[in-house]
Amino acid sequence: MKKYRVGIIGATGMVGQRFVTLLESHPWFCPSFLLASSRSAGKTYAEAVGEKWALDAPIPAYAKDMVVLDAADPTPLIGKADFVFCAVNLKKEETRALEEMYAKCEIPVVSNNSAHRFTPDVPMVIPEVDPEHLAVIPFQRKRLGTERGFIAVKSNCSLQSYVPLLHPLRKFGIEKVAVCTYQAISGAGKTFKTMPEISDNVIPYIGGEEEKSEREPLKIWGELRGGEIVPASSPVITAQCLRVPVSDGHTAAVFVSFKNKPTKEEILKAWEYEGEPQRLHLPSAPERFITYFEEDDRPQPALDRMKEKGMGIMAGRLREDPLFGWKFIGLSHNTLRGAAGGAVLLAELLAVKGYFG
Ligand code: NAP
Repeated sequence: MKKYRVGIIGATGMVGQRFVTLLESHPWFCPSFLLASSRSAGKTYAEAVGEKWALDAPIPAYAKDMVVLDAADPTPLIGKADFVFCAVNLKKEETRALEEMYAKCEIPVVSNNSAHRFTPDVPMVIPEVDPEHLAVIPFQRKRLGTERGFIAVKSNCSLQSYVPLLHPLRKFGIEKVAVCTYQAISGAGKTFKTMPEISDNVIPYIGGEEEKSEREPLKIWGELRGGEIVPASSPVITAQCLRVPVSDGHTAAVFVSFKNKPTKEEILKAWEYEGEPQRLHLPSAPERFITYFEEDDRPQPALDRMKEKGMGIMAGRLREDPLFGWKFIGLSHNTLRGAAGGAVLLAELLAVKGYFG
């Protein structure tokens, strides 16, 4: 089978490094272009990433000597790249412009960035939850004036620790959700070396995160109407997001009330949920989407984040709550399921659905 030729924009960053590693032996995608800022352009990948390499595994051999390109110039990719992944730390307007530039060059963009998450004709997709939102892409192409080019985004990383667990429970009429997320430092592109202030500490603020945590689920549960995704109007979600001294893995403490309160058995049964990636056997799909732990002290980031190669969603401590009805703990790997892995899964879904042409 001919592989898709793929570019990685932001290849030297925390999420980019995960892409470089995940695509090393991907059955469908061949990482053919590595792009970053003009600071890295012209250097080999190994030189450009240097001390910033944050993964335990070494830099894959294929990437070491590839010359990093300046993402500001898409010319070398035009007609050559089938699509790009994008994970950059630019201002929103700059990211928006960069992604549109690639889409308008007929290079589809699968993005980890937040810049386009609320553009009404850009799908924000967790492949197991709202794959039907990809149907908005033809409307976006019409607006952009493209035949192939489009932008598809994944949601914020912390959502993956509670939205997949709430989704199969929507049939019981979710009314209110309160969620506290305990987020790993890799979510800020940091390691313990580059974020020494997190040692023996908790930082009770992550800029913009609470707004994303409350708002993005409503777009994911929205409907395609009139060429746009119209966000759902309920449930009400309130969030608090804390940075904690964990390398990888975002934990969520979730409280939820229902119109028709389910039993514990009904919730556990609903969590046996399978989505389109499982039915289609996509290469990066976890075999088991949700794993429930019976042990009182699980799931834990250090023990459980790599379940299903970092693509599984973990749950535990499901118990009745006197205020809300039910409460539980969720966990997911933020740079795998929550970032690069989630984007690769989204790209696999786009590929099988024919969106890369
Ligand atoms: P990061 O480690 O700070 O890396 C940023 C990347 O952006 C680097 O490759 C950098 O290249 C590149 N870059 C900077 N300026 C650029 C420019 N003008 N043109 C092209 N590339 C440029 O950030 P990160 O943690 O990987 O996050 C990247 C994006 O993913 C952010 O939007 C973030 O919100 C999102 N995200 C992160 C996570 C996570 O868990 N970390 C999860 C979900 C989503 P140089 O090395 O050349 O500077």
